[in-house]
Parts: sequence; C-alpha cells; structure tokens
Amino acid sequence: MSHTTRAVVLGAGMAGMLAATALARHVDAVTVLDRDRLPDGADPRRGVPQARHTHVLWSGGARVIETLLPGTTDRLLDAGAHRVGLPEDLVSLTAYGWQQRFPETQFMIAASRSLLDWTVRDQASRDPKVTVLGDMDILGLRGDARAVTGVTCKPRREGTLSVIEADVVVDATGRGSPMKRWLTGLGLPPVQEDVIDSGMAYATRIFRAPEGARKKFPLVSVYADHRAGVPGRNGILLPIEDGRWMVTLSGTRGGEPPTTEEGFADYLRTLRHPLIADLIDRAEPLTGVQASRSTANRRLFYDRLVEWPDGLVVLGDAVAAFNPVYGHGMSAAALSAATLDATLRGSGLRPGTARAAQRAIGAVVDTPWSLGTSQDICYPDVFARTDDPRLTRHADDRRRQADVIGAAALGDPLVCAAALQVNTLSGAADALQDPEVQQALSRAGELGLPDGPTLTDEERDAARTVVNAAS
Ligand SMILES: Cc1cc2nc3c(=O)[nH]c(=O)nc-3n(C[C@H](O)[C@H](O)[C@H](O)COP(=O)(O)OP(=O)(O)OC[C@H]3O[C@@H](n4cnc5c(N)ncnc54)[C@H](O)[C@@H]3O)c2cc1C
Repeated sequence: MSHTTRAVVLGAGMAGMLAATALARHVDAVTVLDRDRLPDGADPRRGVPQARHTHVLWSGGARVIETLLPGTTDRLLDAGAHRVGLPEDLVSLTAYGWQQRFPETQFMIAASRSLLDWTVRDQASRDPKVTVLGDMDILGLRGDARAVTGVTCKPRREGTLSVIEADVVVDATGRGSPMKRWLTGLGLPPVQEDVIDSGMAYATRIFRAPEGARKKFPLVSVYADHRAGVPGRNGILLPIEDGRWMVTLSGTRGGEPPTTEEGFADYLRTLRHPLIADLIDRAEPLTGVQASRSTANRRLFYDRLVEWPDGLVVLGDAVAAFNPVYGHGMSAAALSAATLDATLRGSGLRPGTARAAQRAIGAVVDTPWSLGTSQDICYPDVFARTDDPRLTRHADDRRRQADVIGAAALGDPLVCAAALQVNTLSGAADALQDPEVQQALSRAGELGLPDGPTLTDEERDAARTVVNAAS
C-alpha cells in the first residue's frame, strides 16, 4: 500500500503559503506551521513586522500568484487594493530624471502588506489538502545530512512536543531563519553567506488621502541619485485600500530618516523634490511614524553546497532577502514557489528533487539580487561581504550600463518597457539585449524629458480637495 505523502512548511508568510499551494499539487497533505497566532483578517501580526511599511507587488509576482491561486488579484482589488499601471500611473523622479508616463506595459498591486498576506493565506487555506497551524514553535529538523524526514515542534501555549514526519520540509521562516545553524547541526559544512548592507533605514506614516484622490491616484516616488556620492534619501507615496496613502521614507547610512512626526515632515522636504511633502500637506495623518532597519541584502548559497539533504527546500527571505526599496522580496518568493512546483512536476518526489529545486531557486533569486546589490554597492559606507565579480571587478562596467539604461528608460518607450520587464521580474534580464532596444539606447541622448513632476491637472486638483475625515 502506498503511504500518504506529506509536506511541512515552516512559516505562514508570503513564501510559506505560496509554497504550500505549490506542494499541494504533488503531495496528499501539507501542514503549515507558524509561531504567530494567525489573525482571521487583514490585521498586523508580530511575525511580519515589515507589514507596517510600503509593500509593492510587481506584476512579475502578481501574475505568478494568480497562476498558483486564481482569483487572488480580483479579491485584492475588491478589497480596495489599487492596480497601478506602469509607467502610466507613476509619477517618479528617478536617479536620472522624471519618468515619462507612457501607456502601461507592466503593473503593480498597491495595498497594505497585511491585506496582501491575509488574502494569499486565505486563498491558499481553501485547499482542503492545506492545514495551517499557528502558535507553534519549531524546534528543529528530523533526519541527517543525507535526508530530512520531518520536524519537531511544540504548541507555544500548552501541549507537548511532537514530531511531524514529512516527505518534504520547506523552510519559509523569513530573514530570521535558523536553517544555516540547523544544517551545521546535521553535519553539513557552513553555507556561504553574502551581505551587501547600505544601512538603509525605513520610516512610514499612513495618511487619509484628500477626498478626490481616494479612489485613484498615481504612485509618487522621489529617489536618490546613487551616483552622487552622498547617502541616499528616498520617499514613496503609495495609495492603498480604504482611501489611504502610505508614505515611506528610506535613507542609507548617514541619511536615515528620523522617527518623530516633525522630523518626518522635515525629511520629506530634503528629498530631491518636495512633491510628496506638498501632497501630504492636505492629508490627514492616521498613524505615528513606524521605523525599521531590516533592509540588508543577504543571500545564503544553499544551492552551492556539495551535499544537500533530500526532502529539504529553503525559499523566500530565508534564502535571499533584498533591500526592500527595490520591492522584489514577495515577487521573488512567488517565483520560487512556482519553481518548486515546476521541479516537482518534472522530477516527482524522489532523491535529488530537493537539490534540483534548491538550485533552481538559487537561479530565480539571482536577478533581483544582482539588480539591487549593484546599486546599493555605490552608496557611501556600504558594508559588503561578497566575491561576486559582478559586484567587485565588473562593478563599474555594470553600473555604467545600468546608468545608460536607466536614463534612456525615462524617455524611450521601448527601453522603458524592457527595463520594466526586468525590474518587475516579469521576464528574463536579456530583454535589454534585444536589438531594437539596443538601437533605442544609442538614440537616448536625443530625448526630451519632463522638467518637473508629471501629475496631470486632474490629479493636482484631486490632491487639493479638502480633507473630509467623516467619509
Ligand atoms: C521594510 C520592508 C519593506 C518591504 N517592502 C517590500 C516591497 O515593497 N515589495 C516586496 O515584494 N517585498 C518587500 N519587502 C520584503 C518582503 O517583506 C519579504 O520579501 C517577504 O515578506 C518574504 O516573505 P517570507 O514569507 O519569506 O518571510 P516573512 O514574510 O517574513 O514570513 C516569515 C513567516 O515565518 C514565521 N516564522 C518566523 N520564524 C519562525 C519560527 N522559528 N517558527 C515558526 N514560524 C516562524 C513568521 O511568523 C512569518 O509568518 C519588504 C521588507 C521590509 C523589511
């Protein structure tokens, strides 16, 4: 008689729930364990403190989530999330100038992280094969260096230690994952860990949008010029559900945003343009300032270990966490879950599959890793531990190329579409090598660019409407 196949997923965040969905296509039962008591709605929780800050979900990630969990996008939009067409609904001062608002080629979903998380968790939990257990402490792995066979866990409040046997264990416990320690405990050699840390700090405040701007408003961003040789200072105004604006400041080492309300407003006026400061002058603050510093790019090269235990896969922030300013974490997690699905579809539950999946996940996270780190490495006082030639000997060449593309994308629709395809994790990085794109790059010097914010007259009027706290 064949045995019931089981997977255990550690962590019920974005990566964990998407991995559970992928696994449910290949095993009889999936148990997801999280140490948080999980709310029955879009509420904040302890295990995802970053939810207090701006989270954009790029089209590359949104499309994959839709493939894994059909109907998720509509549920998000029905709950008030905004669909931001790119670059059409974007008012952005990039390092190179103001972006022209060409017709949409990509998009992003703008919502609070709590709404994104809850919607995905609820969608995934509807699969009868998936059971989610909150309030669980995970104490360690079962098995040895050749194969992981389950986990030991214990309810946080009351209950006894138990063992869950599994054919596959997936670690999706985020930045704080204990996996590298657990693996050396099983007898594996230490894993290579690269870190590029610009010292970026985040500060976020939520506002009620002026009345006319509650249903639809562009995403507004003012970015630092990473070439300036000074600490980077950025601001983003993200329209989210319930007619709110989430405003996040971020600054690299030496340019960190303050965490007081007065300091928040003053810092906005030190950005390369005061547009966001002007916009929120008429918006009603709904929260104080929330701060975070968990922003270092950190990658664990599990895919490079010579030996890898069967039955173990690591994904999400547990394998690669990115500077959030580039907005890649959730999309990379979604793509990794889809990769796990594809590997299981190709190879089935057999020896070597977990290793193949881990290697494929290593390839998936490489694009967002290289996009963010090659910019972060430019900032003063960055901490870098890496032997990646793209960030060491070839760093200057790559930076020059990125600067040419970034400048051309502002005014050339073809280059803009190719750059967005790459940056939204919607396609291969070689979109930029397309001969037509290359030809467009050579014409980039002839482009006329906007010399100020690209808000339309209607958007300016909408932002000027009187605050009506009652509605
Ligand atoms: C300030 C900030 C802003 C960000 N902005 C963006 C953005 O705009 N766009 C974007 O795509 N990404 C953004 N990110 C990154 C994004 O938050 C992560 O990439 C994403 O949350 C990764 O999902 P995950 O499931 O791997 O980890 P998490 O979301 O961190 O989830 C980990 C889960 O594991 C649980 N857990 C942890 N340890 C244990 C344990 N020992 N036992 C049991 N359960 C455990 C936690 O409770 C949690 O539920 C941002 C990150 C930060 C810090």
